[in-house]
This record gives sequence, structure tokens and C-alpha cells, in this order.
Amino acid sequence: MKLKYYEVDEKELLQEAKKGKRIAIKLPNGLSCYACKILSFLKNNGIDAIFLAESCYGACDFIFYDDIDRIICIGEAEMPYLCYKPPVSFIEAKYDFDVKFIEEALPFIEGRKVGVASITPFIHKIEECKKFIEEKGYKAFIGDKSRRTAYNGQILGCDISSATSIANNVDSFLFIGDGFFHPLALYIAVRKPVIVANPIEKKIYSKEIEEMAEKMIKKRYAHIAKATECEKFGIIVTKKIGQRRLQLANRLKKMLERHQKEAFLIFMNDINEAINYFDFDCYVSTACPRVAIDDADRYEKLILTPIEIEILLGERKWENYGFDQIL
Ligand code: SF4
Repeated sequence: MKLKYYEVDEKELLQEAKKGKRIAIKLPNGLSCYACKILSFLKNNGIDAIFLAESCYGACDFIFYDDIDRIICIGEAEMPYLCYKPPVSFIEAKYDFDVKFIEEALPFIEGRKVGVASITPFIHKIEECKKFIEEKGYKAFIGDKSRRTAYNGQILGCDISSATSIANNVDSFLFIGDGFFHPLALYIAVRKPVIVANPIEKKIYSKEIEEMAEKMIKKRYAHIAKATECEKFGIIVTKKIGQRRLQLANRLKKMLERHQKEAFLIFMNDINEAINYFDFDCYVSTACPRVAIDDADRYEKLILTPIEIEILLGERKWENYGFDQIL
């Protein structure tokens, strides 16, 4: 089945959907416009499924559901360490491409040792990309997967460990994928040149990543500086199973209180504009690390990451600014 640019294996979809009596499908934003198409396909094959029309930012974005036997999540790769209730079948949507286009990225690569990183729906081509780069005379490395990732070389917006594990062995990184969400995190985590080869646009980005990341870090410093005036802190904790960090939230609460700040936990599954109306001066997100960074402009109130709170309170040095990751 073709969904946008991506190919979904119909046989696998049917095989997984037959594993339960009450099936629901869950789709990331980019594929939710195909909900009816998928439901009709299942219906035509004797399976009456439900559309779970909730946020789906990743394999992390699940809570526990009653009244459903199995969830079919299309377009995400599983987070192997999580225990999903009900069980979830992850059906990947793959983007097929000819790896030769990455030849255009080679003139921008610094040094001869390159780390290769990617994301779904391109990760199935990572070994082929590595081989292609090596044929061109480079030494290419792919880091091991973590407990949160399904494939070697795969990075998430909150888990760059596959790349950081090889960062000392390489001069620069080649990221195979679309958008800047992942390469920005990659650059901040490794602080080495990151070249992006976008298989959909067949376009290469080089200096752009460093520029965007430096701009973003400056903005984060401004937010931390502004937060020095804040007294009342709300620490946001989510129930989403791959984003829940209650222990960290409790540690931050104690830390803030040690520094004579008022701090309370807020249980909130999806962070939204409601936080503008609560009477807290500043928030800390222990949920998806990207909310504080990528969605900051949506909110009138400040949201910091746990690492930024440590800097604010003088528990960590400014020069040790780091990317908040869930590992
Ligand atoms: S970046 Fe956020 S949405 Fe993406 S996998 Fe990590 S916690 Fe989930």
C-alpha cells in the first residue's frame, strides 16, 4: 500500500491485524490523512478496526488502553524496552531510494572517517549507504542501537546514543533523512560537522545544521537567563510510557526547593496552551525533551529542559550545556 511517499507491507499489516479481535490503528501526523484508506483496506479484508486518533509522535507515545486487544501502529519503529498494553504491532512505512545521490554530500564531509546515522523510514538503507561511502574511499561507522531504538545507526529526537557511541572515532557525521529535527539534536550531542542527505528532496545540507543549532543554543541561553526571575515552577510529568520520567521530576523538585524555589509536579499527558493560564512562572518538561526546544514559541510561559534547570540553579556550568535525552 502506498501512503504518501512510503510503502507499507499489506501482507504484514493483515497478518498483524488478525492477531486480535478489537483492533485499533494509530498513525503519526504525516500519515493520519490515510486513516480511512487503511480502515477500508482492513474492512475489505474482514477486519473492522478503530482509529485511535491521538497524538503519535513516536513509539514512545503510548498510554495503556482498555477495550482494545491490539494496536497497529503504522510508520514508527518499536522501542524494544517498552511494555505496551495492549500489545502493539509496529508496521514500518519505508521510503525507497537510490543511495548514489549521497555522492553529492561527499565534498562537504570533513576528514575521512564518517559516522552514519538515520531514522525510519530510511534506516533500511543505512548499510547500503555505508558501503557506498566506503567505496568512495572513506571509513564509515554505524553505532549500535540502544534499548530505545530498533536498528543500529538509528537516532531519535531524544536518543542520539547510537551516534555519540562512535563520535570519538569519526571526524564528521552523515545523516540520511528528512527534516532538521534529528540532525539538530545530533549536532548538539556530538559537536562535530553534520551533513544531511535528504533522500526525498535529493538535497544536501551542510553548514545549515551548525548555524541552526548555534542559533537555537543562543535562544536557550536567553530562556535560562529569563528564568532567573522565576519563583514558582511546574514540573511536567506525562503518563506516556516512553516519556515518563517521574524519578527525574522528583529529583528536580528537591533541587528547586533546595534553592528556595516553589516547585510542584504537574501530571499532563499532552503539553498544550493550557500552561499559559496556570499560575506558575516557569515549567520544566520531563516528558518529550523536544517540547521545551521545538515548541517554545507556542507558549507565553517559559519551559526549560532538566539540564537547563541545572544550569539555572548553578548545579551545572553553562559551558556544559547538553541535549536532554531519554536513555
Ligand atoms: S523525541 Fe519525543 S516524540 Fe520523539 S521518540 Fe523521543 S520522546 Fe518520543
